[in-house]
Amino acid sequence: MLKDQDRIFTNIYGLKDKSLKGAMSRGHWDGTKQIIEKGRDWIIDEMKASGLRGRGGAGFPTGLKWSFMPKESDGRPHYLVVNADESEPGTCKDREILRHDPHTLIEGCVIAGFAMGAHTAYIYVRGEYMREREALQAAIDECYDAGLLGTNNKNGWDFDIFVHHGAGAYICGEETALLESLEGKKGQPRLKPPFPANMGLYGCPTTVNNVESIAVAPTILRRGAGWFSSIGRPNNVGTKLFMISGHVNKPCTVEEAMSIPFRELIEKHAGGVRGGWDNLMAVIPGGASCPIIRGEDMEDAIMDFDGMREKKSSFGTAAIIVMDKSTDVIKAIARLSAFFKHESCGQCTPCREGTGWMWRVMERMVTGNAQKREIDMLLQVSKQIEGHTICALGDAAAWPVQGLIRNFRPEIEARIDRYTHNAMAHGAVMEAAE
Ligand code: SF4
Repeated sequence: MLKDQDRIFTNIYGLKDKSLKGAMSRGHWDGTKQIIEKGRDWIIDEMKASGLRGRGGAGFPTGLKWSFMPKESDGRPHYLVVNADESEPGTCKDREILRHDPHTLIEGCVIAGFAMGAHTAYIYVRGEYMREREALQAAIDECYDAGLLGTNNKNGWDFDIFVHHGAGAYICGEETALLESLEGKKGQPRLKPPFPANMGLYGCPTTVNNVESIAVAPTILRRGAGWFSSIGRPNNVGTKLFMISGHVNKPCTVEEAMSIPFRELIEKHAGGVRGGWDNLMAVIPGGASCPIIRGEDMEDAIMDFDGMREKKSSFGTAAIIVMDKSTDVIKAIARLSAFFKHESCGQCTPCREGTGWMWRVMERMVTGNAQKREIDMLLQVSKQIEGHTICALGDAAAWPVQGLIRNFRPEIEARIDRYTHNAMAHGAVMEAAE
């Protein structure tokens, strides 16, 4: 279990003073100038050595991503863009940072911006996060007033931060759709390459990072890569915000050590599974796009990237959705299919047509009004979507369905049998009545 002194987010529950003064009293904005004076290469090397993997879901090494930015400007400005378009069902960690601990993010922007030669950051906040945007803007204003942002600021690196408000589309969380939206266009993903590090916002070198990835950077650089990488296990290091929702006794968001066992996490922070462990039916471990896992398979699970891959799922953003035996898992996944169908931007055929097709079949699976051969057909269609689209939304729509079929096929078949049995019985009654 993570020790209190190892927590990066010291006000995640909003119980303390979130102002600049309060943040400084908890150690934030401490020695920012000295970190910047160590130079760009030192910061990037330290971030690489820390082993931090991006906290937005993909888990790409953050230091490596920063190193992709051109070392020298060719005349074009460099940009840092922070992805605060937190929209995946189950994921609700960045909002806690924005509304209660915004100075971790702002300080992180200055340091990350310096490391990639950017004088400007845009923070793209999810449309529904109005109070969070206000809290963030208030914190940014405080920093301008205190001389921590702007031209000739106390950190020795001219830096401006602009907060941009999204309009509520999930797809704008995809980094290139986010850039399109930021440019004032329709938020549709771009074909890659070129990648944003070469041609991002306004055609300029850009790095897009998740809120948590940027917010943890200053503490890593203050306390050292060795400290961060000593938490967790190799390839899965550091602290992490876990979001636990669904059928637990105390749903919460908590900062914990990576690689914490699932059972320990749920017992210690979420008060256990509602109705006890025998009542656990299924878990979605990392947000709506991650394949669902049977409850009994989760009891020995290690909560990190490798642990979830071993379970044929994905760690995602560590948004854990717990489902007890009162859940209709088929209906739950059908609801996610509806979500992805709704959020598809429609650019590519497999996603535009496939998400709707899967959702319609899933709706019939919910009632059982289907044939058993359609289960394999559904699986096959999901495979034809996965990996055949411009962006990862196609995969995100396919994985929940694949997870359901892989882990809950007997339940789907039983429902089809029940429907068929009832229909035949109903037919016999009708015949007798005629
Ligand atoms: Fe749009 Fe879906 Fe294609 Fe992504 S995969 S670009 S959301 S149609």
